[in-house]
Amino acid sequence: MLVDELKSFLHGDVAVDDATLAKFSRDYSLFKVRPQMVVFPKDVDDVKNLVKFAAKKKAEGEDVSLTGRSAGTDMTGGPLSQSIIVSFTKYFNHIHEIKEEARDQKRPGMAGTDAAASLEAGEAKAEPGVYYRDFEKEAAKHGLLYPSYPASKDLCAIGGIVNNNSGGEKTLAYGKTEDWVRAVKIVMSDGEEHTLWPWRGEELERKLEEKNFEGEITRKLKALIEENWDVIQKAKPDVSKNSAGYYLWNVWDKEKGIFDLTKLIVGSQGTLGMLTEAKFGLVKIKKHSRMAVIFLNDLKWAGDLVEEVLKFHPESIESYDDKTVEVAVKLWRQVLKSMKGNAIKLGFQFLPEMWMVATGGMPKMILLVELAGDDEAQLIKRLDQLKRDIEFFGASHGGIKVRTLKNEEDEQKYWTIRRQSFALLHNNTTGKDTAPFIDDFVVKPEYMPEFLPKVNAILDKYKNDLIYTIAGHPGNGNFHIIPLMNLKDPRVRALIPKISEEVYRLVFQYHGSITGEHNDGLIRTPYLEEMYGKKMVELFAEVKKIFDPLGIFNPGKKVGGDLKYSVEHIAATQ
Ligand SMILES: Cc1cc2nc3c(=O)[nH]c(=O)nc-3n(C[C@H](O)[C@H](O)[C@H](O)COP(=O)(O)OP(=O)(O)OC[C@H]3O[C@@H](n4cnc5c(N)ncnc54)[C@H](O)[C@@H]3O)c2cc1C
Repeated sequence: MLVDELKSFLHGDVAVDDATLAKFSRDYSLFKVRPQMVVFPKDVDDVKNLVKFAAKKKAEGEDVSLTGRSAGTDMTGGPLSQSIIVSFTKYFNHIHEIKEEARDQKRPGMAGTDAAASLEAGEAKAEPGVYYRDFEKEAAKHGLLYPSYPASKDLCAIGGIVNNNSGGEKTLAYGKTEDWVRAVKIVMSDGEEHTLWPWRGEELERKLEEKNFEGEITRKLKALIEENWDVIQKAKPDVSKNSAGYYLWNVWDKEKGIFDLTKLIVGSQGTLGMLTEAKFGLVKIKKHSRMAVIFLNDLKWAGDLVEEVLKFHPESIESYDDKTVEVAVKLWRQVLKSMKGNAIKLGFQFLPEMWMVATGGMPKMILLVELAGDDEAQLIKRLDQLKRDIEFFGASHGGIKVRTLKNEEDEQKYWTIRRQSFALLHNNTTGKDTAPFIDDFVVKPEYMPEFLPKVNAILDKYKNDLIYTIAGHPGNGNFHIIPLMNLKDPRVRALIPKISEEVYRLVFQYHGSITGEHNDGLIRTPYLEEMYGKKMVELFAEVKKIFDPLGIFNPGKKVGGDLKYSVEHIAATQ
């Protein structure tokens, strides 16, 4: 039996009991896929031996594969598999180092504003199974923060952040995970652990000469990128954040002569190997932050408004829509539970929203703008100036109101609605299930005024079958729509590929990406060809073959997606 064979060489554990298999059949996606077994490797030797074992079985014609898993909060089905799940949170949960150092953190080609330039900061090394919430506390003791944490920061772990190329509320200012990973340790298909970092000059020359697996993949990948240079550069999505596909355009910086394989590993959803350690950059926590809330009645000004706000180099611009407020007002008891403080006092804070819902005076979009800095007086000045400028902008555009908030207590209500929007839907009492499938698309912010009403028009056609809200990161044009649907009904489940197709066709018309943060998994891999074209998808398949010729790692994600398989594995109830 496979289990006995595994037990004979593993230092860690193997589980095949019902409870474990049921737990690992799910992540936070729509899907349910029951694995054959779950392995908890204890050390790097375990991971190496697992890969060698899978390679041997593959060579003997057995259908065995390995799917890495950290905290399992993926919304795409990324950590699900019918074969072996390799779970990292049990033993690979050590922070090796958090180091303060003063050096310029400006990153080449950084997407957002220049807020991260010339910060004093540090670096950390951690194993994939470290929960972000634990890491955050340790880093804070050094006054440091990993700036590309996702909204799921209290649940997720480092391995998933790296493998999904996660981003979050501070991505606007600091960029995504791809901008912060400095090096990775990864067990590749040769069954050995490799350390990858940006190679240049003589180091790169030497690497290209090496007569081993690392040398071979470096040579093959460099040749693939050079031979297909124009196609690859052209395929880069015209948006400031993207988690779809393999980011081939990031690997070879010809001008600087840097060849960086970590750029390919980040966001690859465990399809190229098993991550065993990551080294990443950190920023210094700014001492003060303040928030302005902007109420927008007409979406047609959203793009221009965001441009005005960006002049103030905000830490974040987050948004939610009128429907999110309606859900929050309906479920206000749950909202209050997630807020700290006196429930009655907090309850009163919701009166304006309740009034807006009752009178139909709800703004179409609410923007939360966070400014931060070390000098509080300067910060308040900037915030006041932002208020004046936006009011001036509003005077000529109409339907815009601004409130600046004085303290954290005032801010709490707005953050709770934004951050808890998914949890609120998830715990809803309508009897419907949360259905993340068009949960993460991106278009350039300037297209928002045209684009969002068109998305609304598509979804409104299906309003008998779904309830939806829109929240997101308008500074990057990245939106999260997670409808409530009755997934017990096969007719409703069949709407998922239909609506996806309609929404994604629109996204492609605006040269956007199907995912800014959450990645591809089972839900979006089948749409990569439509997004990138046939040639790019062929290149993705070649990349996969270079790294993983036997197909050991996480099959069906990034390459070889099968829409029929995905639809068949939608769980009939969440
Ligand atoms: C409420 C909620 C909000 C969210 N908000 C965001 C957000 O703002 N931004 C965002 O980016 N995402 C978000 N997500 C999605 C998800 O939480 C993040 O992408 C998170 O970083 C995943 O981390 P994880 O540890 O749970 O990864 P997992 O779910 O365990 O895995 C994610 C992927 O990485 C692979 N993987 C994990 N560990 C390894 C390893 N050691 N080796 C190889 N492969 C591995 C898995 O196979 C899978 O494909 C959200 C999810 C929820 C439920």
